[in-house]
This record gives sequence, structure tokens and C-alpha cells, in this order.
Amino acid sequence: MPAAAASTPEACAQAFQGVPFMPESALDEARGVLARTYGYPSFRPGQEELVAAVLTGRDALGVMPTGAGKSICYQVPGIMLPGLALVVSPLVSLMGDQVRSLIDAGVRGAYLNSTLTPGQQRTVMRRAREGTYKIMYVAPERLEDPAFLEFVSSVPVPLVAVDEAHCVSQWGQDFRPSYLGIGVFIEKLPKRPVVAAFTATATEKVRADIVRLLGLRAPALAVTGYDRPNLYFGVEKLPAKRKRERILRYVRAHAGDAGIVYCSTRKDVEAVCDWLVDNGVRAVAYHAGMPADVRAANQRAFIDDDVLVMVATNAFGMGIDKSNVRYVIHHNMPKSIEAYYQEAGRAGRDGEPSDCLLLWSDGDVSTCRYFIEEGAVNDELTAEEALAVRAGQRRLLEAMVGYCHTTGCLRRYILDYFGDEAAAGRERADARQGANGGLAGGEASVGLAQAGALVVGGAGDKQNAQNTDEGCGNCSNCQGEVDAVDVTDVARACVRCVRLLNGSFGKTMVVDVLRGSRAQRVLDGGLDELDCYGVVKEPAALVKETIELLAAAGILSVSEGTYPTVGLGPKSPAVDEPGFSFSVKRIKPAAGERGGFGAPDDNVRSFGASGTDTEPYSEDLFERLRALRKRLADEAHVPPYVVFSDKTLRGMCAALPSTDEELLCVSGVGERKLERYGTAFLDEIAAFRAGRGL
Ligand code: ADP
Ligand code: ZN
Repeated sequence: MPAAAASTPEACAQAFQGVPFMPESALDEARGVLARTYGYPSFRPGQEELVAAVLTGRDALGVMPTGAGKSICYQVPGIMLPGLALVVSPLVSLMGDQVRSLIDAGVRGAYLNSTLTPGQQRTVMRRAREGTYKIMYVAPERLEDPAFLEFVSSVPVPLVAVDEAHCVSQWGQDFRPSYLGIGVFIEKLPKRPVVAAFTATATEKVRADIVRLLGLRAPALAVTGYDRPNLYFGVEKLPAKRKRERILRYVRAHAGDAGIVYCSTRKDVEAVCDWLVDNGVRAVAYHAGMPADVRAANQRAFIDDDVLVMVATNAFGMGIDKSNVRYVIHHNMPKSIEAYYQEAGRAGRDGEPSDCLLLWSDGDVSTCRYFIEEGAVNDELTAEEALAVRAGQRRLLEAMVGYCHTTGCLRRYILDYFGDEAAAGRERADARQGANGGLAGGEASVGLAQAGALVVGGAGDKQNAQNTDEGCGNCSNCQGEVDAVDVTDVARACVRCVRLLNGSFGKTMVVDVLRGSRAQRVLDGGLDELDCYGVVKEPAALVKETIELLAAAGILSVSEGTYPTVGLGPKSPAVDEPGFSFSVKRIKPAAGERGGFGAPDDNVRSFGASGTDTEPYSEDLFERLRALRKRLADEAHVPPYVVFSDKTLRGMCAALPSTDEELLCVSGVGERKLERYGTAFLDEIAAFRAGRGL
């Protein structure tokens, strides 16, 4: 297959080598920039290696989940290197915020995109020529503009950083043709800059595409762990009708917190948003079908903490850096673990405890299946490629369904999923294969890790994930709200029945036959003669769920087409093995109500998003500081999280600083922020202390 061969991992195998030797003094300087500008005491895993690579003139590829801190990796070198660093980013609407954040931290940043008038664009370019800026954000389309090319030829560009680099790959879900021009643009520059690419997408094939299509040269690679320990994961199966009440209950119980509710369709977005508003919640909506100005205003209101609840389709959020999103609720099951983790991962980017709740129903699974079978694929693909893409999508969906059903630790499930993908070259026939398995599957490939790349944390995740039997303690399954119901016999009966039916019927028929239905279509086909007829007494819903789960495990398979039939999966022989056992998940009703996760009258989470680990009085102080932050942010026309993150406010509550020096010790307080906001916060803290006699 030419498309796959062009990006063979062998081609980039030599490309990946370890991180270069870096003089300690330059690293010290980088740490100094991190402390003074951002107020952070140390680099996170992966950041230091990538910064070191770029500073020594080496290309770099950072694969890090949302919230891991990719921006620091190019901003710190951008600040240190002489000249103007360019940051290519697909999201024009967010550049303003990114640049405001930089300026607020004392970094001379700018952006150039179509939201500026031609006159403003000329001014920005003139100032850039005069050396006013260190970092400039541009949209990929801009790189094709001759005026821009002429401009960059007249300023030294030491670094081109490519954010959301997976957009260059056709196999990713966010392909942008304009990204293909980035490599060409770099070649046209008078002096080749260092190129650093960043993505949260872990699949091997996408990474290989990034290296090839951006023309990265022997890039240093850092892959950081996918674990986000501050995120609580919860899964609840609910009929479609009951989901809204559940969301309302949660939102009410966390009234001061900002959160996102994702829905899979525009119609649902509007229905859920209206329902929340009708019930007194200030919520706004966001989807691609809304007028652009309304959408932009709603996004603004959410980013600025003017409205705390955003109800949106997945059109919302890519590149949103709002760090104080305290929860992400999914009203529908997304189509893949990648999509889910990316969306859920928008919670808690500041590292504070945050919740990710997935509500799902059988209907969600059918909807996803329908979109795979009936949805459009990129029309540039050949028929064969399109088939392979659909097969890949089916596998992704199966893994997602598996997440909903698993009785094990949810976090471990996710980490295993990504761990499997990171360890490429292993042929896997099970449901957990990656998006591109359909195209690349079966090819022997060289894992990046084996090729000498620096892998930070990723391997550790996997080990933790596999070695800890007790689970993470911070997901709904680990918190013991679920019960496993043994359905081994039902599972065996299902497989037997599917065998006898030769895979020519749908789920409902299988259920009907097993439960001995007298329905006409059963009798007409003589199916009541089968020896599996009527052997199952369990409720139809449970049998149906068992079939779903068997499909997710690769024991059964659900066919393509609008009327999917149930056949045998590659793992069907497993049911005949002596030790075979199979169970489905049941939420224990009583425990569910008492459980920590936003049960009816629950507003203190045992997993602590409300800061239960700090002193009792700090909650009041936190509210005061939050209000002060909002005031200062409005005055300065920046989003509140740009002033200080929730984590930094919590740090202040814990440390109760009374001097500039003490305030500087709080993580997230840099020199410029101290200068600008220090007095206001110290005064507020002093007033609070005086009021409490502290
Ligand atoms: P990403 O782009 O990878 O999703 P960001 O660059 O937006 O993540 O960073 C996520 C959050 O982590 C931001 O609030 C950022 O300021 C913070 N952060 C990044 N690096 C560090 C660090 N070394 N120490 C503390 N906080 C950090
Ligand atoms: Zn867990």
C-alpha cells in the first residue's frame, strides 16, 4: 500500500536518537527563565529534554497529553534564542489569548492572522522587523502568503514550533491540508531554523507522518506519560432521558466550578443547554451550526468565567488553554478513546483535582456505528483505503465500548490502551488497536522507543497500569460503586447461538432466540428448533449488554452496514477454554447514591476537587482570591486563568504569604506577575488574616 509505505517507520528509525549533551549553564538559564517568567520551580518530565534539544539546535518532537505543558517547551527556547520564534497553530480564535498570556508574563509576543486588519498586520510585521517580538503565533495558511515569506526572510527565525502537529497527517481526525505547506515553507527560509513539533496524538503512524511531512531532522523525541492523576474518571450508563437530570444534579452540586458538557449532536447541545438554563443554571452553547459571532461570544464568556457551564459539540475546545475547567461531562459516548481522553483531558490542566464523567446509553453505541457505516470518509481515499479507514474506526469504537463496560480500573484501561499503541510492532488482533491499524496493521514496524528515542514516563505508565492490582482509587470502578455480574453462561450461550445462526441476524434476533421468544419472525424461520432456543432466562437488556461486551472483547463481531448482524469475532475460541469467565458491570443502586460522584445531595467530593486536603478556612479565602482575580482580569482584559491558575490560588491559600518573597515562592508566581498583581493579592490575604485573627 503506497500510502502506508511512504511513511514506514524504518524511514524515521534512524531519525530518532537520544537527546544531545547540553551545557549545564544553558539549562540553568532555561530554568531561570522558567522561574522568573512563569514562576514554576522546575520543568516537568519531557519539558527539559525538549528545551535542551531545541537550544542545542536540534529538531524535536514532543508527544504529550493535553495539559502536560507543551507550550513551555517552545516558549522558553523562543524567549532565549536570538530572533523571532514562529509558532504555527491551527486555531486562530485562540491566538489572542495565548499572546495575552505571554504578555502578561512579560514576554514580547504577537500574532498574525486574519482577525487583524491589513493595517494592523503591517504594523505587527514592521514591529517584528524592528525586533520588538520574541514569539509570534501564525496560522498555517499564512505561511503560503508571499508577503509573509518576504517578511520572514528579513528577520532571523531561529525556531519554528508546530503546535497540534498531528493536523499534518491524513490519518488523524483533524487533518488540515494547510499543514502540508509547513515543510515547504521551512525549506524556503534563508537559514533553516530548528523545527519543534508537538502533539497529543500517540499513534505511531501519525508520528511518522509528522516527522516525514514536516521534514524533521533527527528529532529528539519525548513522550510523556499519559496518566493524569488529578482527574477522576466516572462512567455511568443511563437511558437518554435521564442524562439531563444527572447533569443538572452534578452542575448544581458544583455551582462555583467551571465545566464543559459535551454532546455528540447540535440538537443535543441545544436541548441540554436549554434544559440547564430553564433550571436556573447559567450555561451557554457552542456548535458549528451557530452564527460565528454568537459562538465566539459564548466561548469568550466561558473563558472569562462570566458563564461557568459550556455545553458543546466536539467543535469546542481544541487548543482551549483555560486551565481551571473543573469537570468535563460527556452526555454521549464519543467514537474513540483518543477523542474521549482528549476532550475529558480539558479538565484540570492546572493539576488540581477535576472530574471526567461519561454518561452513555445503548443508543450512543448505535449512533456511533451508524456514523461509521454511513458517514463520509475523505473522498480523496481509494475504495480500499476507505474500507480500511472504516475498519479502523470500528476498532476504535469497540475499545470505547469496552471502556464503558469494563469492571476494572478506568484509568488503567486508558493507560493500557495508549501503552499498547506506543509499543508498536506488536501485532494485536484485539479490540485495542489504533486508528490506523487498518492501514498499517500487519506491517512490522520499529517502535520509536527501540529506535533510541527518549521516552519519558510512557513506559512507566504501562507498568504501573499493569502492576497495580488495587487500581487507582480515583475512578468510579475503583471506588467500589460497581458490581460485576457473572454472565459466563449467558456469554457461552450467545456465542453458541451466533454460531448456529451463521452470523446472519442482528442482536435482537439473537436475544429473542436465546430467551425463547414466540415472535413471528422467530417461528417463521424455524429458529425455535435450534438447540439454543430458550436456554437463557436473564432479562433481555442483560443479554443485549452481554453481546455488546462480547463484541468489544473481540469474541463476537458486529458487522458493518445499516442493519448490523452479529458474527463471531477473532477471539471466539476463548469461550471454549476451561477457565473462561465473563462478567458485566452493574452499578450498585445504594452505593451509587452514596458514592462520591455527585450523588443527589452530594456536594463534597471525596476525591477532593473542593480542596478538602487544605485547611478548613482556605475555602473562604479561595473564593475571595477567585473574586479578586476576576476583577483584575476584567480590568486587564485577560481571562482570569491568565492572571493566576486555580492551582496558584490554592498555593496562596496554603502558604498565606505576607511578603513579596513569600509570594514568589508560590508556584505560578513569576516576577512580572508579582509586579503586576502582587500587592493586590497580598492585601487581600492580609485582610483575610486580620479578619480571622491569624
Ligand atoms: P498543553 O499545551 O500541553 O495542553 P499547556 O502548555 O497549556 O499544556 O500547559 C498546561 C498547564 O500546565 C498550564 O497552566 C501551564 O502553565 C502549566 N505548566 C506547564 N509547565 C509547567 C511546569 N513546569 N510547572 C508547573 N506548571 C506548568
Ligand atoms: Zn481506578
